[in-house]
Amino acid sequence: MTDARPVLVLNCGSSSIKYQLIEPSSEQVLASGSVEKIGEATGTLKHRHGDDHYQESHRVADHGAVLDAIHTMFNQFGPALDDLNIRAVGHRIVHGGAVFRDPVIIDQQVIDQLRLLTPLAPLQNPPALAGLEAARRMLPDCPHVAVFDTAFFAALPAVAATYAIDRELAEKYGIRKYGFHGTSHQYVSGKVSECLGLASDGELNQIILHLGNGCSMSAIHNGVAVETSMGLTPLQGLVMGTRSGDIDPGMLVFLHREAGMSVDQIDTLLNKKSGLKGLAGVNDFRELLQLRSAGDEAAALAFDSYVHRLKLYLGGYLALLGGVDVVTFTAGVGENSPVLRAAVIDGLDNLGLRVSPQLNESTDSGPRFIHSESSGITIMVVPTNEELAIARAAVALTSAVST
Ligand code: ADP
Repeated sequence: MTDARPVLVLNCGSSSIKYQLIEPSSEQVLASGSVEKIGEATGTLKHRHGDDHYQESHRVADHGAVLDAIHTMFNQFGPALDDLNIRAVGHRIVHGGAVFRDPVIIDQQVIDQLRLLTPLAPLQNPPALAGLEAARRMLPDCPHVAVFDTAFFAALPAVAATYAIDRELAEKYGIRKYGFHGTSHQYVSGKVSECLGLASDGELNQIILHLGNGCSMSAIHNGVAVETSMGLTPLQGLVMGTRSGDIDPGMLVFLHREAGMSVDQIDTLLNKKSGLKGLAGVNDFRELLQLRSAGDEAAALAFDSYVHRLKLYLGGYLALLGGVDVVTFTAGVGENSPVLRAAVIDGLDNLGLRVSPQLNESTDSGPRFIHSESSGITIMVVPTNEELAIARAAVALTSAVST
């Protein structure tokens, strides 16, 4: 008999928590919501149950208070959490370090190990820990499963994962390329294989462009990631909403010595005040496109820099894979901006990539093909769904344990 009990998926960031309640056999979202501006004077709380949307504004002090607020919204607007007999809670955890290569059921030992990983993800792991501890208090009787953003990249070949620095130092501090957005890259690459009628580990060379607020690219050979653009932290690689991506590492020393900036100031500069925000003053891609259309030169340069970096990586990954079958765009920008997609592929005819303007402009929301008939390489848009991937992982793990 199939177990239809729903799975609650929690994605805890530093200033917001998003959640979805998913019925595992139909994979339908029964309810979803978010709490934003945690700790600020007025928080924004949104809850959707079926087609009904609710919104509230009041202060939510910390992650413990958020979980209480989510509990209240479920019970007030439905479905009542206390009556649901939740099967499992799936938690998105950004950094699994070298320890966690697969989803795990959370117990005290896992929490202790996660705490030890905090230096690797000081912005991301502490809020996730606070969220999962509060969630365990709220739902103590069901298993809680951690799903790691780094896991899909845990088996990167050494040549991709290794930084060319002193090996002993790297070993001592666990300095290597970990990669992030792995849940999305894995989900999307599986979906691409499915769309082509192949098994998820079937013979296929893929490049995936995950372009949201954070941006990352991956090269995947027969279902296994062989390279990715994010590194020790989610700062490396592409130009992002507020993150610089690649810079000359010598710039850190320069900023410290010449601009007198502290480590914390440099951290804030590169993580929160760089990327599109640093170049054009806005990190939202829609606003960037509007400014660019209105003739704003800074916005035009930011757009061009974003595209330039994408082309650099795309070309590099084509060379690494020695040929590619499918290039796929996903996440907020990748799924919704035909202008960006066209700009990235523009001029790559000789490499076998050509977009069909008509298919690229299509407003379909599902997985779709956007290459022209003369394109040697398949080009797709595939909506990512990290929450569903987390729910599937939670179900797989808890079923495996209970049988
Ligand atoms: P996150 O990394 O927070 O999950 P998302 O994947 O939701 O981010 O992507 C957010 C980005 O997607 C924002 O920069 C937003 O402007 C952009 N975006 C959303 N819709 C569109 C659109 N129609 N056109 C261009 N950009 C869009």
